Amino acid sequence: MYIVILGAGAMGCLFGGRLSETGHEVVLVDVWPEHLDAINRHGLILETAEGTRSIALSARRVEQVEQPPDLLMVFTKSIHSKQAIESGRHLFGDDTWVLTLQNGLGNIEAIEALVPRSRIIVGTTTCPSDLLGPGRVRSLGQGHTRIFTADECASSGLERICQALQQAGLQCELAPNIFAMLWEKLAFNAAVNSLTAATGLSMGGLGATAEGRELASTIAKEVVAVANRKGVAAQESVVLDTLITTMRDHAGHLPSMLQDLRAGRKTEVEAINGAVVREAQALGMSVPTTETLYRLVRILEQSRSAQSRATVATDK
Ligand code: NAD
Repeated sequence: MYIVILGAGAMGCLFGGRLSETGHEVVLVDVWPEHLDAINRHGLILETAEGTRSIALSARRVEQVEQPPDLLMVFTKSIHSKQAIESGRHLFGDDTWVLTLQNGLGNIEAIEALVPRSRIIVGTTTCPSDLLGPGRVRSLGQGHTRIFTADECASSGLERICQALQQAGLQCELAPNIFAMLWEKLAFNAAVNSLTAATGLSMGGLGATAEGRELASTIAKEVVAVANRKGVAAQESVVLDTLITTMRDHAGHLPSMLQDLRAGRKTEVEAINGAVVREAQALGMSVPTTETLYRLVRILEQSRSAQSRATVATDK
């Protein structure tokens, strides 16, 4: 398959690198010049349990890629989806499948502006990945990927893509209940990402106090209630179990919202907690804890960006 990855950060490079290693023609697309340059000069340096290697890959800006691929994977952070998709509109051909495994809400709708739902594949992945620097990605630890079409109809194209991901070691399965899974992951992320970002604690630090555990389960329950009111069969027990096991087994993990906040980057809170608040409002529901954490992270995000602007001004 000819595959284009739109947004080649931690996850885009992991998926692109592994798919390339199993014989697919992969082009990485990003907006970060140093990263593109490093990959084109030295290959993508991918570190996994199998070892560290350099994978020869083509890395481009979007305007340098002309031909619509068989598979376009959108792997920017959710907050950049619209802009990335708009800039890559020439890559959405009639026969192109578009896959999103991003976190948060709004990605499917952004893609749907350009292609019908029957060509969109949605999913979740727990494969972990960290961007170490330009051209270098580390993925240690196991994960699963679950996908299905956004119109919930199985097809041979969907099966072919699932097989390609499976062969590339990305542990892929078809999941006809994909929307329940997406909302369960959203509930998990709304709880742990916002709470660790607001407190500065790791997963284990959050789980070490009764208050931390209670707030996490309150948010998870609020989000699942919104999903259920929308007719999505997300299960509270699945999310609560995942919260307990993750706090125990990944105690040292710092979720991406906390990492983004510390680095002065915009977080995905708008597409996670913010999106849940808006969905709840549209249904006449209230999600008070999810909304409070949304506002707290927004305050921190704005104060961090004001601080970094002040630092730049002082340095001049
Ligand atoms: P990342 O920040 O490492 O990568 C995103 C990349 O998109 C960056 O390299 C950035 O330069 C690029 N980008 C931004 N705007 C762009 C544009 N207009 N056009 C092209 N590229 C653009 O993020 P990530 O960790 O790879 O996460 C991607 C998505 O996957 C997020 O929704 C995240 O929540 C989800 N996710 C991440 C992990 C993980 O372990 N990293 C696991 C599961 C899901």
